Amino acid sequence: MLKPFFCLRSVNIAIKLLYPSVIPANLAQIKLWIENIFVSKLWSIKKDNMIKSKGYAAKDSTSPLEYWEFERRELGANDVLIDILYSGICHSDIHQVHDEWGGTQYPIVPGHEIVGRISAVGSGVTKFKKGDLAGVGCMVASCGQCDNCKSDQQQFCSEKKTVWTYNSKDVMHDHSYTFGGYSNNIVADADFVLHVPESLDIKKVAPLLCAGITTYSPLKRWNISKGHKVGVLGLGGLGHMAVKIAVAMGAEVTMISHSPRKKEDAALLGAHKFLNTHEAEEIKEFSSYFDFIIDTVSAPHDYNLYLALLKTKGVYICVGIPAAPMQINGRSIMGGNKILTASSIGGIQETQDMLDFCAQHNILPETEMIDIDYVNEAYQRVLDSDVKYRFVIDMSTIEK
Ligand code: NAP
Ligand code: ZN
Repeated sequence: MLKPFFCLRSVNIAIKLLYPSVIPANLAQIKLWIENIFVSKLWSIKKDNMIKSKGYAAKDSTSPLEYWEFERRELGANDVLIDILYSGICHSDIHQVHDEWGGTQYPIVPGHEIVGRISAVGSGVTKFKKGDLAGVGCMVASCGQCDNCKSDQQQFCSEKKTVWTYNSKDVMHDHSYTFGGYSNNIVADADFVLHVPESLDIKKVAPLLCAGITTYSPLKRWNISKGHKVGVLGLGGLGHMAVKIAVAMGAEVTMISHSPRKKEDAALLGAHKFLNTHEAEEIKEFSSYFDFIIDTVSAPHDYNLYLALLKTKGVYICVGIPAAPMQINGRSIMGGNKILTASSIGGIQETQDMLDFCAQHNILPETEMIDIDYVNEAYQRVLDSDVKYRFVIDMSTIEK
């Protein structure tokens, strides 16, 4: 009979003990309390407007990519919704799916070379309208206020608020993890969406959004032009774009490759010379030859060997990101006062400039179109250097 009484009494004591933390003590706390309730309510409302997506995801570092249905955040006032038409396969997708750089959040939907058509715009968007051709690269949001964001270097947002297209916490919106372009649609801040010139072949254009900008940006920054001797190390997705862009900028371009079978293709892409890295004699011939080398290799390799191919004050630009740390002998750069530098994708305005440059010079990647259910075989072929020179996924093939 006494049991209910004791129960009530212990609840009473518990409330009294918890009281200071449950009930806000001052006005500021009350405000925060109300805000928290309001925000959580808002999120629950937002959940009703979440956008349904179909994609291909990996659930851990060793599983293949497979069909997965998920939700994206609702369309905000400054956002656009894009129906994805084509998505390129970048080697960075493979590095991250396999967690080679560490920190991959699963399930992961890769893809940051995205082209599609705008299917809805937020109330504040003026840059796009429904039906426009649009592109998304490696970023979908950033703080927009810091010096780096304001100087078109959103990839280096000083507030650490760059939101990557996938495998990234969306700190500018709902703090969920982002999902990429191997899917039928995407929501992005309109400021991070590119106008894709209609004159470019829509089936080929997607790889420009990463491979294109990642090579254009350093080549432009270093003012590559007529009279420069440029070596491009690695003939893959980035490498073949580097060849085309450096040739269009007027440089003499040499393809430096560990795949002699690619010699003919290199010439077709516009390279003036070819250096087979298996041939010690050929390497000797190119000693102290280049003004610039852009290194696009995805696997560990000997940087010291290629630094020796630079002239005095030559510039070595790393864009490839092998999983293992670089091993460089200090003397490889000291002799000849060489410059060792790197480059990370490019800013949004710069990406727009690159698209316009490519439209002007009619530069497009060499692509092989695949259905989404071929994606795991495609990954293996990229690892085997067996693709000419970028896979593009026809995203209409995801419709079940
Ligand atoms: P990819 O298509 O696989 O091309 C990489 C090329 O590297 C291959 O075609 C091959 O060229 C060469 N290679 C591969 N394995 C090699 C080995 N064991 N030894 C020597 N050479 C080898 O890759 P991708 O998509 O162009 O990406 C290249 C790298 O850039 C990746 O690490 C990627 O993560 C990185 N990336 C960086 C940025 C950035 O912002 N910096 C942006 C995008 C991608 P050959 O057969 O001609 O030798
Ligand atoms: Zn990429």
